Amino acid sequence: MQTKIKIKEDLLDAIQEPIIEDSFGISEDKIKEPLYYEGTAVRCFCLGCGTSTELLPEGAIHLAELAEVDIPLSWNNFYFVSQSCIICAKDYYEVNLKKIK
Ligand SMILES: [Zn+2]
Repeated sequence: MQTKIKIKEDLLDAIQEPIIEDSFGISEDKIKEPLYYEGTAVRCFCLGCGTSTELLPEGAIHLAELAEVDIPLSWNNFYFVSQSCIICAKDYYEVNLKKIK
């Protein structure tokens, strides 16, 4: 009995948490692509629906507030990742600001 429980625990430990960021596979190419729309500052990738949106500076500031990060001097080399967006939900949730590698 003791052994069975132990095995079960080992199996549970072996199961890795799924890497959410891979679920919609944000492509490295897309991250590095120049912004398409004039006047936009930064791109946001939504893991909830797989959409990428280009944000105006005002929108970027809104997302930086949601991400609780300082607004960078330049949005170049940055992008946002969110768990939901205005397309698949009411607003952006669980926003993170990331640096383009
Ligand atoms: Zn979305």
